[in-house]
Amino acid sequence: MFNAYYSMYIFMSDVKIKLEAEKTTATLVNKVYEKLKKNISLYKKVVNRPITISEKILIGHLANYKDIESANDYLIPTKSYVLLKPDRVALQDVTGQMTILQFSQAGLKQTSVPTTVHCDHLIQARVGSEPDTKAALYENNEVYQFLESASRKYGIGFWKPGAGIIHQVVLENYAFPGGLMIGTDSHTPNAGGLGMIAIGVGGLDAAEVMAGMPWELLYPKRIGVYLTGKLNGWTSPKDIILYVASKLTVSGGTNAIVEYFGPGARTVSCTGKATITNMGAEIGATCSLFPYDKTMDTYLRATGREAIADLANKNINLLTQDNEIEKEIEQNPENALKYFDQFIEINLSNLEPYIVGPHTPDLARPISNMAEDVKNNNYLDTISVSLIGSCTNSSYEDMSRAADIAKQAKERGVRTKIPLQVTPGSEKVRSTIERDGQMQILKDIGANVLANACGPCIGQWNRPELKKGEPNTIVTSYNRNFPGRNDGRRETMNFIGSPELVIALALAGRLSFNPLTDSLIANDGTLFKLDPPKTAPEVPENGFKDVQDIYVPPSDNPDNVDIQINKNSDRLQLLKPFSKWDGNDFDKLPILAKVKGKCTTDHISPAGPWLMYRGHLDKLSDNLLLGAVNAFQDGKIGIGKNILNSKNESFAHIAREYKTKSLKWIIIGDKNYGEGSSREHAAMTPRYLGCAAVIAKSFARIHETNLKKQGILALTFSDETDYEKILEDDRISIINLKDLKPKIPVDCILYHKDGTIETISLQHSYNESQLEWFYAGSALNVLKSKDEFKDAENKLVSN
Ligand code: SF4
Repeated sequence: MFNAYYSMYIFMSDVKIKLEAEKTTATLVNKVYEKLKKNISLYKKVVNRPITISEKILIGHLANYKDIESANDYLIPTKSYVLLKPDRVALQDVTGQMTILQFSQAGLKQTSVPTTVHCDHLIQARVGSEPDTKAALYENNEVYQFLESASRKYGIGFWKPGAGIIHQVVLENYAFPGGLMIGTDSHTPNAGGLGMIAIGVGGLDAAEVMAGMPWELLYPKRIGVYLTGKLNGWTSPKDIILYVASKLTVSGGTNAIVEYFGPGARTVSCTGKATITNMGAEIGATCSLFPYDKTMDTYLRATGREAIADLANKNINLLTQDNEIEKEIEQNPENALKYFDQFIEINLSNLEPYIVGPHTPDLARPISNMAEDVKNNNYLDTISVSLIGSCTNSSYEDMSRAADIAKQAKERGVRTKIPLQVTPGSEKVRSTIERDGQMQILKDIGANVLANACGPCIGQWNRPELKKGEPNTIVTSYNRNFPGRNDGRRETMNFIGSPELVIALALAGRLSFNPLTDSLIANDGTLFKLDPPKTAPEVPENGFKDVQDIYVPPSDNPDNVDIQINKNSDRLQLLKPFSKWDGNDFDKLPILAKVKGKCTTDHISPAGPWLMYRGHLDKLSDNLLLGAVNAFQDGKIGIGKNILNSKNESFAHIAREYKTKSLKWIIIGDKNYGEGSSREHAAMTPRYLGCAAVIAKSFARIHETNLKKQGILALTFSDETDYEKILEDDRISIINLKDLKPKIPVDCILYHKDGTIETISLQHSYNESQLEWFYAGSALNVLKSKDEFKDAENKLVSN
């Protein structure tokens, strides 16, 4: 139905309709390379040393050319904020709803930057691909209609449900070497496999860039990973990142770009590289990337982008680190520290297959130690379900290697002992492996094919066969394994490995099976060992299958497109601006929650059944801190003390009651608060329910920015041990807010119930423009106050 709110925008702007605006054209890539050339040339004169690939791409995308002249003072890793102009934006269907709702508040006619939407997160895995996609189309109809109509209107490319998972589709169609992309999903760095700096951001960041604003980034430090040797036997690209995660831990990549390079890097396929950069999110890295090489040329050509491959080959010096760096490191690895803040060297020839988990991706061991770990930790050895695929590991090469293991089992009449689910990353890969036979081999040993969607990777997995609270072990080739991540059940223990390893474990049915040493029983009763998977083609010999009817381009007549949104919907809700800071210090505010231990965005705003409300802020707010562990109450989860009635209630319920009484409140966080997914809802729901500040030992980068952007004061303890001083019945004041200044600590007063008072010092990482967000109530309020957007609003009123 036509909506009057949106119709008012139609005649507001004189922006011209840009045909093919959503594509990565050779013209766009050429323009990017021209800018890279100019900026890098000046930068090299200023710093007077060889430079790395991430430096080249970041410098090549600076919004202000003049900043390069003062690079030596201005670009201080983890200290300076830089303004960048991204080339692309990618949105998925869950976070994309709020992004588009925010973008539409700016009142523009079209996006200023090529943008796409991908319908992948909302399809629930139940039975199999076809019925599940059909059910999703029915259940999420109004969300899909909203996204599709908004996409057609705003010049955004729309990928239908079933087309594939955002990162795989972006890799196949839009990523390009040397580019800069932001995406509203934490695994956006997948495109680093194709030599792109691709970074997961909150929806508001994306909306701002779509509106033509530059994007601000804390200038990252650099971690160099130097690869020598060659993967062999059972070892796969996945094992490189699992090994790196074990070395760096889940926060080791914070505010860093991880650059892989060296002779070993050039032996890893483009899609294998993408698996590695995808999972850089698991170590909290800003992003990860590889320099341009022959494997990327191969992949670009196989996916129909010959013109871009030609351009990349002509500009190879812009897309690789300066040669001197690798030469110096070859001579002496210590030279790496001239270019990188941290350095890891891995000889791929000696790397073993790894398996990580449960519950965290940095709990790693080589497969040879798994059986002992199962015994020592009482892990449930019997596996309930095995899963391969997702955006992380579903390339043609991955599926071919997995199918090779399956083929060996099939030839001996062996099927998987447990269910095996396959989630293909895209329709392009799914239809190609169907044509080339890999899918049939997987089905022959018992695989069930789910939709080309996230499904069991993001809690969209219906498992009626499990009893409530029943512990169970699953093995996946996915990327993330927080408690509750896959099926919404905290008791499920997820172990992660490569697809070929997962197939081997599925054949044995137990976690302690080591395919390198252990045997399986063939149908005729004989024992046999699996051979390591054969080397698989990086891309299909006969090309990828051409797929139709999965994409909707922007409209040629956007003025005639009405955005579909129903004002009575319980899935979508138009946003109202958050109110600006009232000018008063935060005075004796209660603590809604003091959380203990790991508190990811999934603990703050869980996914699973809540995914359906991601476009409706009020409804979604009922999940606030549902998974957070209460530090005051012996580890109780999702509940705390309501100071108005002294009862234990859910955090969301308490926050809503405080909100009705106009009482603001505070969250106390532990280390790396807000790690995990980029979801900005984890900042929007507390803001909506009245959160004034989050004080944590430390923050995950994206979440900290999201809190700032939504107008919540994000602070850290100057002395981490002050976390212990905060008691359940305390009231907290944060003072001198009108005098907030970058790098100046903030005073905080704790009023204890026994009448004692303590003052502690807090730190923050706001720069001047970020402080404006706090005072204005949100970054969106600042955006709307800018002249060009004021104009749009005036026109809105006069129309
Ligand atoms: S990590 Fe999982 S949920 Fe996220 S995009 Fe990939 S498949 Fe989807």
